[in-house]
Amino acid sequence: MDAVFCFSCRHFQTDSGVEDSFRKGLSDWKKLSSKLEKHAHSQAHLNCMVKWDNYKIAQHLTTRLGLWKQ
Ligand SMILES: [Zn+2]
Repeated sequence: MDAVFCFSCRHFQTDSGVEDSFRKGLSDWKKLSSKLEKHAHSQAHLNCMVKWDNYKIAQHLTTRLGLWKQ
């Protein structure tokens, strides 16, 4: 299936604010660019991006400082 989905929303979405199409895969390619544009500026998406950033920072710290290792 050819589908587009939003990585950060798919993996870090915890509330119901994100449209299902961006979490499960958007296969309707009509007006795709305007849908992407709208999604990129939605608050729900921005929240997911922050969570993704925090995750990356946590990963970095874990690797660099050996945090959470037994
Ligand atoms: Zn998104």
